Amino acid sequence: MSAPRLEIHLERLHHNARTLVERLAHKGIAVTGVSKATLGLAEIVRTWVAAGVGSIGESRIETIEALGRSGMAVPMLLIRSPMLSQVERVVAHAAISCNSEVRVLEALAATAAHQGLRHGVLLMVELGDLREGILPVDLEQVVRRTLALPNLLLMGIGTNLGCQHGIAPDAINMAELSRLTTALERRFTLRLPWCSGGNSANLPWLAAGGDPGRINHLRLGEALLLGREPLGRTTIPGLYTDAITLVAEVIEAKAKPSQAWGDRRHTSFSTASPDARAGPQPCADAPAVQRALLALGEQDVDPAGLTPPAGVSIRGASSDHLVVESTGRPLQVGDEQRYQLSYSALLRAMTSPFVSRRFVTGPCGRPQGS
Ligand SMILES: *Cc1c(COP(=O)(O)O)cnc(C)c1O
Repeated sequence: MSAPRLEIHLERLHHNARTLVERLAHKGIAVTGVSKATLGLAEIVRTWVAAGVGSIGESRIETIEALGRSGMAVPMLLIRSPMLSQVERVVAHAAISCNSEVRVLEALAATAAHQGLRHGVLLMVELGDLREGILPVDLEQVVRRTLALPNLLLMGIGTNLGCQHGIAPDAINMAELSRLTTALERRFTLRLPWCSGGNSANLPWLAAGGDPGRINHLRLGEALLLGREPLGRTTIPGLYTDAITLVAEVIEAKAKPSQAWGDRRHTSFSTASPDARAGPQPCADAPAVQRALLALGEQDVDPAGLTPPAGVSIRGASSDHLVVESTGRPLQVGDEQRYQLSYSALLRAMTSPFVSRRFVTGPCGRPQGS
């Protein structure tokens, strides 16, 4: 079988989606499944929809178009602000987009009028993480402008925390989003369908008993795919963290000295200064260790986001090689090894043309968190 490959267990993904959709439904919260880390892989999106996910969020219009071509009928939400250069495509293919710029709203409205369509807009509010969002003081003015524009449907407001500065959703910023929703509804005498509280980083706050207030919508990616929340990297109870794993193949396995030798400088991928510990000759008292190379590198995955199997530790990586040391049974050329992935490792593996995908079905086993 070809390696490296992502093994994607669709039943486990179904379980993760179903579990979260049900848990959140109890709190009155609907889920948009964010598939960007999988490049909108149709099999995964279909699995989520079958599990009760009501809409799909994607950061790139190209992916939304591809999902449309593959016959996906659920509403598509563009979760990154549209580029002005792509508004025609956004209006034609995305039901809703996240927005924070009046200039873009105006272009969307003009295009929607031209195409004879209505385009939904979710206005993003800046609540401290300093990525996208309208400052709360400017929100009323932007809403007034949005309501005056033709062919736009104001879906509500939302926020995104955790992604830039790791700011956690908490009682204060979440209550602020609820308060803003209610204030806008009063000010403009309307009802906003969505109060979109955030992403997977909102789950710890909710699990700890946080009051959703007006929040009735979340956009979830990592939690559905990897069963983890991003802020503390903890497992979400009852979910699979191994629904998607990476399999790589050993191409060299030898006992080698544990320390490098020669004049030591930077490597192509080093970030810290080289330490001068390398001696001129192989160090006589450095014990030999079982070292192996896997055919996997920076071009395939974010090596810092890999969790190796038991008894194996990662010593480094370059474009095409992952260097590991193992204790216990020596690895052999041709062996396959299975690694767990962080979100960034998953994103890169899905993006690499060298990593294939294999869908696995069959019994799920028990989720780690249960
Ligand atoms: C990526 C993204 C999400 C999903 O984030 P996860 O941490 O994967 O749940 C939600 N909203 C926006 C705006 C995003 O960019």
